[in-house]
Amino acid sequence: MFADVSFPISSFQVFTYKIPKKLIKNVSVGSTINAPLGNRMVSGIIVSCYIERKFSGKIKEITSIEEGKPILDDSLWRLINWLSTYYDTPIGLAAKAVLPSQLSTNYEPKKQSFAKISSLNDEKKIKGEKQLKVYKFLKSQNSPVPFSELKRFSLNPSTICKSLEDKKLIDIIKKPVIPNIYDTSFESTPKTISLTEDQKSAISTICSSLDKNRFDPFLLHGVTGSGKTEVFIEAAKHALSNNKSVVVLLPEISTTPQIAGRFRSVFGDTVAVWHSKLSKSSRGWIWKKICEGEFKIIVGARSAIFTPLKNIGLIIVDEEQENAYKQTSSSPRYHAKEVSLMRGKINNSTVILSSATPSIESFFNYKSKKFKYLELPKRYGKVKLPHVHLVDMIAENKEADNYNTIFSKLMLEKISDRIKKNQQVILLHNRRGFAPILRCEDCGEISKCRHCQLSLTFHKIDNMLKCHFCNFIKPPANKCSVCSSFNARLSGTGTQKIEDELKKIFPNVTIDRLDLDAAPTANKLFNTLNRFSNNEISILIGTQMIAKGLDFANATLVGIINADTGLFLPDFRSGEKVFQLIYQAAGRAGRGALPGEVVVQTYNPENEIIKDAVNYDLVGYYEKCLKERSDLNYPPYSWLVRMEIRGKNKNEVARSIEILNRNIPSLPNGIEKLGPSPCYREKLKDLYRMQIVLKSNKKYDTTGSIVHSIFKKAIKNTKFRKTGIGSKLIVDVNPTSLL
Ligand code: ADP
Ligand code: ZN
Ligand code: ZN
Repeated sequence: MFADVSFPISSFQVFTYKIPKKLIKNVSVGSTINAPLGNRMVSGIIVSCYIERKFSGKIKEITSIEEGKPILDDSLWRLINWLSTYYDTPIGLAAKAVLPSQLSTNYEPKKQSFAKISSLNDEKKIKGEKQLKVYKFLKSQNSPVPFSELKRFSLNPSTICKSLEDKKLIDIIKKPVIPNIYDTSFESTPKTISLTEDQKSAISTICSSLDKNRFDPFLLHGVTGSGKTEVFIEAAKHALSNNKSVVVLLPEISTTPQIAGRFRSVFGDTVAVWHSKLSKSSRGWIWKKICEGEFKIIVGARSAIFTPLKNIGLIIVDEEQENAYKQTSSSPRYHAKEVSLMRGKINNSTVILSSATPSIESFFNYKSKKFKYLELPKRYGKVKLPHVHLVDMIAENKEADNYNTIFSKLMLEKISDRIKKNQQVILLHNRRGFAPILRCEDCGEISKCRHCQLSLTFHKIDNMLKCHFCNFIKPPANKCSVCSSFNARLSGTGTQKIEDELKKIFPNVTIDRLDLDAAPTANKLFNTLNRFSNNEISILIGTQMIAKGLDFANATLVGIINADTGLFLPDFRSGEKVFQLIYQAAGRAGRGALPGEVVVQTYNPENEIIKDAVNYDLVGYYEKCLKERSDLNYPPYSWLVRMEIRGKNKNEVARSIEILNRNIPSLPNGIEKLGPSPCYREKLKDLYRMQIVLKSNKKYDTTGSIVHSIFKKAIKNTKFRKTGIGSKLIVDVNPTSLL
């Protein structure tokens, strides 16, 4: 028997091996095996098995079966194949996304040692003060004592215990330490829920879909605070009662504790949490238990869609419009929403894409009847959507005769008012650091990252300039590198500056900040959210991290410091993103019994996107946006494929993209090509970037198969992957951004 094996390398080539007799019974298509590749031992996945050898060269043997990988059922194998084809990724790499090499069903939790007094009572054998102390202490205890507790008698309790054990005076017991897998979910007490008519109707539609056991995609469009999570919970109950399992995807780790907590309060220990910030031991433990079928509900980040959960009946993608669902840094460059729809199709599951601000694509898919529509148009409990005040910052600056005003009069008034009433404030500013630009006043030179050619952000807390793309750090120079002037000036505003200024204005108020710098770890993040939820923080400042999904009843004011951030980025999605952020952030206010208010500051008060967002005119904006997308032939009216060449040498990058360009066959009707041109962010992490974007109108190319065949042909003809030159090709199918 022979097998073709794909490895997690960037080559599409499969390698043929002989299956040794002893393994024939145990391997099949989809098995993870170890085999020699070059002079290394690499684990790969079998993509086909056959009896007749295909060629006469020397063939090596498969060495062993990789231990600890679950047997792939047919549905996951089909998913891997789809990932590979759709995102143009070698199957070995696609398989690695589903079966990460670090995870194993053989995971054993670390063991902790305990000491316990034995039945032998022969104290004469004890030597030395320390042994005696430990022995006496153990004697006074009824249950085994962990070694760590014996540290007060000796720095090295294990040596002492070992010699006591050798003398048979004590027994040493090793117990596995089960990781606390719920340390990233909030405690939540079950609520009495009396479902609203809208909720009931959505739930009953979902339940009857679940009973049919077929692929059924829904868009659940519910305004912020309408109780979408309660709908998820009821739907999950129904799925479980049909003996099906459930995946709930969340885009931001910041919303995980609350939502996971709400699921846990209803479903207890059958809920597992899954995200990148889990400790290694928790990940290992959870994955093993998922493989063993112990969990029925997974609440987690995008990679949770790959967990080998059996019998999936329901997949929920919360805040489905979020770009965080797209994997951008490595292959396969998948979108968890697309994967959810495909996994749902393969497993005959109900798929719910949920949001208060659906992506334009999903909105379009509902309009064109590809998705069924469920609506929760009202907030739960007769709570009104908060009133929004739009503040024109140009007028505000003029009046104050200060062009660096951060807070408008109205914003400060409203904040003071909430502080007086003991209510809480959320302030959104989508830019971290202290100031995004350090500029020489004499020659205008801006401090840039030498690896990315982008402006460095000043961080006051550590007095450093930082690159937000590659994490390069340097202290601010004391004179200009171009003209030697000492006249440098910070401009622009980041969250740290807002925190600083606000603390000056409200010195006696507890103010905290949540952004990537303030919450580098999950614990820090959850701790701050917890304190906010317990009313220990009055004003929480943060980036988009705090704009979505959170539910704090006492937060009655949301302020958006600069609604224009991102408005003018040259990307077809920038308007949509700004709209969603404002609309969502506003939705964090007044979710409980107390009414909410929102203050939105802008330098573009006449901008349609901002006006529509503050008027909650979602349909109005979406219709306009769709018209624009249709005029410009952007998604959802077209398929996009972005082919990027990156490399250290600028000329070589230009040459390579030209070769690729020449290999693109003449384009049929409905397909446009943009480029080759430098990317908007031309150099990132020392690599120059150029791209070609193919846009294929869905009228001519309904399934995208035409554009797929064109780009695949171009790549193949370029033999790019084989030339081994210093540049790299990146293919991004359905990119979320063209920057
Ligand atoms: P969304 O996810 O749509 O923004 P949530 O599910 O967080 O909204 O609901 C907002 C708040 O209203 C939550 O505190 C939730 O528990 C509460 N809520 C929603 N529906 C009900 C209901 N039927 N009965 C009781 N409380 C509800
Ligand atoms: Zn200068
Ligand atoms: Zn950089």
